Amino acid sequence: MQTDHISVTDVEIPLTRQKNIQLSVLRLDQLHPVISGNKWFKLKYYLREAKDLGFDTLLTFGGAYSNHIAATAYAAKEQHFKAIGVIRGEEPAQWSHTLQKAAAFGMKFVFLSRSNFTAVKRDTNPERFREQFGRVYIVPEGGYGLPGVRGAKEMLNCTDIKSYTHIAAAVGTGATITGLLQASLPGQQVLGISVLKNNRSLWNEIEQLHTMPLPNRFHLFHDFHFGGYAKFDADLISFMNRFYHISNIPLDFVYTAKMMYGLIKLAEKNCFPTHSRVLSIHTGGLQGNKSFPPGVLIF
Ligand SMILES: *Cc1c(COP(=O)(O)O)cnc(C)c1O
Repeated sequence: MQTDHISVTDVEIPLTRQKNIQLSVLRLDQLHPVISGNKWFKLKYYLREAKDLGFDTLLTFGGAYSNHIAATAYAAKEQHFKAIGVIRGEEPAQWSHTLQKAAAFGMKFVFLSRSNFTAVKRDTNPERFREQFGRVYIVPEGGYGLPGVRGAKEMLNCTDIKSYTHIAAAVGTGATITGLLQASLPGQQVLGISVLKNNRSLWNEIEQLHTMPLPNRFHLFHDFHFGGYAKFDADLISFMNRFYHISNIPLDFVYTAKMMYGLIKLAEKNCFPTHSRVLSIHTGGLQGNKSFPPGVLIF
């Protein structure tokens, strides 16, 4: 996929002028109209390995609104793999927008009850799927794993990062922020904003992906989840609309809106020294906003 059209947008708001900081957004949402953002990067080396090992079918896991499911379906189609999505929860009467798109890219689904889903995705032995699906290459849920980190590192090749003092992104599994940490420069602070509620194992999970202790310049924030994964309230929606109004940047309600809300709160609390230059990563995920009824968002 082409990445040379990805730009960096500077956000001009009274707060950043007043505090004398710069807030920039690396627009990975511009990557592709459906498959925006980090999931594409995280998949790259899984697909390469699948190809090298001679697999023709990918199998992965996710919820009915998952950006990872949408991205895997698209990447599989583009690289001529068959794809199976194991979906958390019973088959809904009406498929979500995400499932419809993924099906249009050729993905086949298996719906599992929540408890079965959790059991099955933990079982990393691909043999258990062989009887049902033949030989499949398993991509972990959300692209969590070392190949995911390796792909995520390449997100920072889309711009020159030298002049930034801080790099920030939303955190789900932690693979993306680990890649960003590894691609960042020694003097840069790396900020992860967790979108899960009280995910206290996150630090350890990121440390495992990083394969060494996390440096002092790495920071995780747990205060901006809005009640938990994919939860939101009227404040977050109005923030997304206001932010779009002033910046022309659409945010998704699961990840990037919470990151941006968090960064602005941190700026208000003077957590960024004067002259900080903050590069926030728009990790995409805009397809998730399609679960809102029309009219909620102004974009
Ligand atoms: C999945 C996702 C993230 C989180 O990435 P992790 O590597 O799981 O931490 C952030 N933003 C968007 C838009 C995503 O879809």
